[in-house]
Amino acid sequence: MNIQWYPGHMTKAKRAMKEDIKLIDLIIELVDARVPLSSRNPDIDDLGAGKARLILLNKSDLADERCNLKWAAYFQDKGYFVVKVNSKSGAGLKAINGVVQEACKEKIERDRRRGILNRPVRAMVVGIPNVGKSTFINSFAGKACAKTGNKPGVTKGNQWIRLNKSLELLDTPGILWPKFEDQVVGIRLALIGSINDEILNKDELALELIRFLQKQYPNVLEDKYQTDASDAVGLLKQIAKARACLSKGGELDLAKASRLLIDDFRSGKLGKITLELPSENTKAE
Ligand code: GDP
Repeated sequence: MNIQWYPGHMTKAKRAMKEDIKLIDLIIELVDARVPLSSRNPDIDDLGAGKARLILLNKSDLADERCNLKWAAYFQDKGYFVVKVNSKSGAGLKAINGVVQEACKEKIERDRRRGILNRPVRAMVVGIPNVGKSTFINSFAGKACAKTGNKPGVTKGNQWIRLNKSLELLDTPGILWPKFEDQVVGIRLALIGSINDEILNKDELALELIRFLQKQYPNVLEDKYQTDASDAVGLLKQIAKARACLSKGGELDLAKASRLLIDDFRSGKLGKITLELPSENTKAE
């Protein structure tokens, strides 16, 4: 998804989000489990002050399970409720209802003291582009997702999707803008395909990925492409050979090899890989 954020978009998105947040009890924030901090926009903490918070580690099927556990503990430690999900397959979604009730305990208690019984928790989904917001809403809401206002000629405003007696969801997710002033964050977001690839050239991006894999997942390239070089450029050349990336003149096409490598990473063909750990300090924190 190629999105450039200009100040105008940001201001508008922020204003709309502020209005929506007034209507809800709970913010369901999706992050990409492969880059849980880089795929966050910490502005949501100010925007959502005073609201119950649930972080979904989405695309957890593509991430390293040991790291998923570390990230869940990291966010829980900071006071967020956390559920690990795969919105595409639906894995983990069942756990959400119980956690929502737990996260909104205070509100439910407050309602009860005021004699309001069974008022559903109202929630909205937020996240930067491509983290899986629409996929999540569709699979979580399932058939309940039929939107009555979504007919020609009807102005589409926000609609509540009633999930069950105790939970309602805004049908339109809040789009947070990615923060990638930090070069490391930019590279990670580009690797997962969340920001415009043109921000970095693909060869550079592939070399960054290779260097990272060499350090953190040393057997992955060897297993997948039978490489044995020790330097990043040498490895990229071997990948080009292994994948028969040749230009018309018969020379190695490193640009094509870079694209293939990055696609293999994004689609999980290199295995379950997490690009950042809670113990590192990225500026996104
Ligand atoms: P949005 O921009 O946040 O609404 O993101 P989308 O819902 O459009 O999802 C972006 C891409 O990620 C789509 O290709 C989805 O199929 C994919 N996707 C979403 N959730 C998951 C997940 O949990 N696992 C995997 N493997 N892919 C996912």
